[in-house]
Parts: sequence; C-alpha cells; structure tokens
Amino acid sequence: MTVKTLLSEDRLPTRWYNIVADMPEGSLKPPLDPATGEPVGPDALASIFPMSIIMQEVSGERHIDIPDEVREVYKLWRPTPLIRAMRLEKELDTPAQIFFKYEGVSPAGSHKPNTSVPQAFYNREAGIKRIATETGAGQWGSAMALATQMFGLECTVYMVRISYDQKPYRRSMMQVWGADVLASPTDRTNSGRAILEQDPESLGSLGIAISEASEDAATHDDCNYSLGSVLNHVLMHQTVIGEECRLQMEMAGVYPDVVIGCIGGGSNYAGLAFPFMRDKLAGSREIEFIAAEPAACPTVTKGSYTYDYGDTLCSTPLFMMHTLGHDFIPPGIHAGGLRYHAMAPLISALVDLGHMRAVAYGQTEIFDAGIMFARAEGIIPAPESCHAIKAAIDAAVECRDRGEGKIILFNLSGHGHFDMSAYDQYLSGNLSDYAYPEEKIKESMSRIPKMG
Ligand SMILES: *Cc1c(COP(=O)(O)O)cnc(C)c1O
Repeated sequence: MTVKTLLSEDRLPTRWYNIVADMPEGSLKPPLDPATGEPVGPDALASIFPMSIIMQEVSGERHIDIPDEVREVYKLWRPTPLIRAMRLEKELDTPAQIFFKYEGVSPAGSHKPNTSVPQAFYNREAGIKRIATETGAGQWGSAMALATQMFGLECTVYMVRISYDQKPYRRSMMQVWGADVLASPTDRTNSGRAILEQDPESLGSLGIAISEASEDAATHDDCNYSLGSVLNHVLMHQTVIGEECRLQMEMAGVYPDVVIGCIGGGSNYAGLAFPFMRDKLAGSREIEFIAAEPAACPTVTKGSYTYDYGDTLCSTPLFMMHTLGHDFIPPGIHAGGLRYHAMAPLISALVDLGHMRAVAYGQTEIFDAGIMFARAEGIIPAPESCHAIKAAIDAAVECRDRGEGKIILFNLSGHGHFDMSAYDQYLSGNLSDYAYPEEKIKESMSRIPKMG
C-alpha cells in the first residue's frame, strides 16, 4: 500500500516562515566586517544583492508573503507529496512510522528552486539583467538556470572544475535553460587568476567559485550574486517545504517525533525543520531534530562554532557558524552538495542551543541506505539525501529495539538521476570511504580569524 498525502494547489502556503522572530534573545550573532570587527550594515551587501533580499536577510518579521508570481512558478511542481514509507517500515520491521517529503519532483530535481525562483524574481524587480552564481555538483546552478529562464534574466554559473569534468549532464541541463557555464577557477576574475597562479591544475572548490561569482557581481552594475544555501533568506524561502508538510501531516492525523534532514549549507533541512522547530521553541512540543552530514566534511560534528569567512578568498563578511576553516577543501565525495566548509548561522545557533544535533556518516553506509530505500520505495535518492535516509533508518531501527512507535519525518531533498556514476561505483564495489581528514582540518582551523 502506498500512503501519499497530497495537497491541492490552492493550499500552497502564502507565506514563508522566518525563524529569526522566534530565536531566543541573544542567540544570533551579527555578521562582522573583518576589517573593523564591527557588525556589517545592510549597505555592505548592496553591491551584490537587491535591497529586497537584504531586508529579508536581516528581517525579524515572523512571516513574509510569497509574491504571487513566485507562487505561480512554484505551482509547476508544488505542493510536493508527503509519502509514508510503508515498504521501508516493513523491511526494517519497525513499529515506527516513516514519512518523507519529496522535493525531487521539481524540474531541477531538488529543493533548490524553492529559493532560486524568488531570488530571480526579486532581482528582476530590482532591474538586474544577469545573475552570477557558483555551483558544486550542479544542482544549484541548474536551479538558478531554471529560475533566471522563468524571469527572463541571463545567468553565469561558475562550476567547480572537478564537477564540470565529472558531471557533463548537469552542465548540459544548465545550458538547456540558457545559462553560461564556466569551469572554476577561471581566468576571468582576479580570484580565479590568483588560484590558477598557485596551482594551474586546481580542481576548484565551492569556496573558490563563490569568490569568483561574487567578484563578477560586485564589478558589474547590472549583475547580482545569488547564494543557494547558508544565508537567512535562503533558509526562509525553503520553509515552504515545512509549511506544506505541517498541513499534510495534519491531514494524515500525525505529528513528527523526530525530524531529519541532510545538511550541506543547511537550507533543505531548515526548510523542513523550522516550521516544526517553531513549536519546540514555543515549548508546546517535544521533537528530536537530527541533521546528517558526511564524515569526510564533518562541519557540525567536528568543526568549531566561531566567526569565519563564507568563502576561500576571504571576501565575505565574517559569520558566526560551525566551520572547518574557510580554506578547507574536503575530499571528493559523491555527495557534492554537502562539501561546504561551514554551516548556516541559524542551524549552527540551534545546534549550539541544544535544540538540534548532528550525526556524521561514511560514504559506503549512506549508499547502503540509499539502495535499501530505492528497493523499498522506488525513488532513487540523491547521494546527499541518502544521508537523511541513513539517519531515518537508524532512528527506525532504534524504535524497533525499544519497541517505540515514533513518527519519523525526513526530507528527501532530491533524486539521484544525475548521480548514476556514483551508484555505478557503489554497485561495482569501487566506492572508497574517505577517512576523517583530521590533519587537513587542524591545518585550516589554524587560519580561522581571531574574532568575537
Ligand atoms: C544542494 C543539495 C543539498 C545540500 O544543501 P543544503 O543547503 O544543506 O540543503 C542536499 N540535497 C540535495 C539534493 C542538494 O541538491
């Protein structure tokens, strides 16, 4: 039996939820100007973001209306289904009920268009003609290519070199939606040239690509920058996931005891979790929140909660967040979307407050979980999402051992149709488990700025 809770289009949420309004007093530390050590004002970001986005970034309003034009584009794939994984429950012989919210039904195949679409919209409203952005494995670049196409903007994507070479179909997808895709580091920006000078064979990293894209935006008036995760406004746009999910769980007559997601920069998990975290912060519900990350890039489980740069070349303000050091370049795991060196300040603060915890998994065990899920539920998950599945399976097994019928909810952030080479390596027994990169982390942590 398949239990699928669908929501009609007319019940698509009309507002995003801004958790900043409900965070405990003093729990959020402001971004700092690295030169002065003083909090940065909204104007500091005006050369790369439209004012409407900056105002959302610093907003303390609990709810922000979703513009009608954005809702119209959302309707291409939203509301997304909430599915009860009954076959997986049976396979695990668990008394727990496992629900997942499936974000892989968007045209780009992940949750990322939930924010690329409003970001493109607000930039067009501000008269911007082109968006420059970075992409790792290609999911964010394709989400932004889709969104700029919907709103008639141009799009330049700085794609991390190693993914550019290894993921040709993601590149084609972006090109189909009209984007100009460059292998980063490029020789078009000062940041790119500086890296190439040190290492002409550089495989690139997300941090380097961010430096390039933001430099492009800062040096061209009609071009803005756009970030696919980490920042407050991005996490807020993603709450359309959790707002929908609350309605669907109500329709199904259940409420989650455990809420799980994978974390790269933290946006898909925040999107599902924050509308439920609201109840926990208000003291009206006891919920366990578990965020799953790769052992090869263990930002929250092994990083420090401190001020650091968002990019490799130190061009961003300093953010208070969990970090492995801004120049940490993680091993080339297949879950490319989870290779960022730091974590969203909002997720970091909630972990620091003890409202959420993180777990780290190796590459082989997450593919074990992903294959088990695909065989039970049919959907082939993205390697990133496999981390959430692994955590959900662990929680369900714990319920079996303790005889607890908990309600487990996780976010299935995307499908894995563009990651079949990773599955191929797994199935042929050629997948390597990277060791926890302790020495490299120690080294990069020694270069974190001393602040705050
Ligand atoms: C990008 C991506 C992630 C990680 O990013 P978050 O900001 O942590 O959500 C997870 N899953 C998929 C499918 C992705 O594309």
